[in-house]
Amino acid sequence: MDYDLIVVGGGSGGLACAQRAAEHGARALLIESHRLGGTCVNVGCVPKKVMWHAAQLAHAAHDARDYGFDLTLQGHDWPQLKQKRDAYVARLNGIYAANLDKRGVTLLRERARLSAAQGVIAGGREYRAPHIVIATGGHPLVPDIPGAAHGITSDGFFELPARPAGVAIVGTGYIAVELAGIFSALGSHTTLVARGDGLLRHFEPFLGDHLRETMRDEGVEIVTKAVPQALERDAANQLRLALADGRRLGPFDCVVWAIGRSAAGGDLGLEQLRVMRDADGFLRTDALQETNVSGLYAIGDVTGRAQLTPVAIAAGRRLSDRLFGGQSERRLDYEYIPSVIFSHPPIGVLGLTEAEARRQYGPAVKAYSSRFTPLYHAITTHKPKMLMKLVTAGAEERVVGIHVIGPGADELLQGFAVAVRMGATKRDFDDTVAIHPTAAEELVTMR
Ligand code: FAD
Ligand code: NDP
Repeated sequence: MDYDLIVVGGGSGGLACAQRAAEHGARALLIESHRLGGTCVNVGCVPKKVMWHAAQLAHAAHDARDYGFDLTLQGHDWPQLKQKRDAYVARLNGIYAANLDKRGVTLLRERARLSAAQGVIAGGREYRAPHIVIATGGHPLVPDIPGAAHGITSDGFFELPARPAGVAIVGTGYIAVELAGIFSALGSHTTLVARGDGLLRHFEPFLGDHLRETMRDEGVEIVTKAVPQALERDAANQLRLALADGRRLGPFDCVVWAIGRSAAGGDLGLEQLRVMRDADGFLRTDALQETNVSGLYAIGDVTGRAQLTPVAIAAGRRLSDRLFGGQSERRLDYEYIPSVIFSHPPIGVLGLTEAEARRQYGPAVKAYSSRFTPLYHAITTHKPKMLMKLVTAGAEERVVGIHVIGPGADELLQGFAVAVRMGATKRDFDDTVAIHPTAAEELVTMR
């Protein structure tokens, strides 16, 4: 065998898996056909968060007058921000390559596909290893409707050379609400196109309702029950979105599809090995990240489970700990994974919604809610509320869900996630002394 481990895909999961294996002394080969860092670093979390900070500053600049500042905004230089953001991402690409080198992981910059017997073909030759990990991530979906190619996806968002004056975003999930918040704060006239009634359908309902209210107050147009049927470009180079019920939306300079992601791997040769996939094309794995083919594993977005960077990293590291670190039981527990939607304001979610908890635990479920104006907004003209819900289950009131929308929701959840994983009860929360004045203290003072 040429290597102990071959990882296909140098994104969050693949990098983590290969590096941890090398730290355990394994000979690891990582194959990546594009830029190191994958979706998160190049067209995901990292450049998105830079844009989110820009949008936060725009909001802060509006509030600054209420804090006594004499501030006049002279517009926003999108090209300059893009250039600095791209330079930072390029720096990260270099850092990732250096880290692989430092840890002794061999990097091959090629497109890979699986060969019949425990091998991978890349750059015209076959490499063999007893353990092969697929960490190829995913791609944004585009609807199968006429003219869809006139629109862009989140990948295209990061290529926009300038701020579009008018933009429509189709979808109401993570990416749609995050990009809508950024565009709107930076000055684009923004329309959010929802096929259902509201935003963030798969979350605790008050989160989507409150975000919708807040976005509307800030000038985002939200069109509901809107199923796209065709996208057309008119003679003036403007886009118009035709809906199934006959309505036409637009004109827009830019339309962004944010309707979910599919697994990458169409050209991996999975069919010849009969690797099992689910109905949406995501690779099926067991609790140990193993596919149905012996020695073949999958981690991260390509598995379709909790498509988040820290999940891909954790799955990759734990797999290498198990295969090469002598930790035979090591695996990722997919329960209680916290996540943040970087909308404006941000949303933090952990565990079960109240409805999910009732389905799982029956009547022994209690929910505690709080709605208040954060101190920051006590003296601002614009006064968005902060909302929180704590869900508990059983007589001992174990905390099984936390849902927060408002300033600081992004930073406050991580510590609470540790407590919830450890089995904290409402009583443990009550017994914890608050930090005052903060928004987070509400979570330990709820009645
Ligand atoms: P990826 O990072 O996608 O890496 C897969 C790699 O495999 C790619 O580099 C690709 O080039 C390579 N590859 C594919 N096929 C082959 C082949 N045949 N040969 C060689 N190489 C191949 N998550 C968060 O936790 N927080 C966030 O704030 C967040 N924001 C996001 C914002 C956006 C706009 C998007 C799109 C995603 C965001 N995510 C966020 C999700 C996060 O980016 C992904 O969950 C994460 O990148 C998944 O990592 P991965 O290793 O599974 O795949
Ligand atoms: P999501 O699954 O979050 O949302 C998809 C949205 O698209 C839903 O609103 C869905 O509507 C809608 N939709 C699906 N198909 C259609 C269609 N044919 N026409 C119109 N609307 C449609 O996917 P995203 O693309 O937003 O994000 C992909 C994943 O990336 C996320 O699930 C998340 O795991 C990850 N991510 C994480 C981030 C973070 O951690 N902050 C940020 C960005 C992405 P409906 O609700 O009606 O089903």
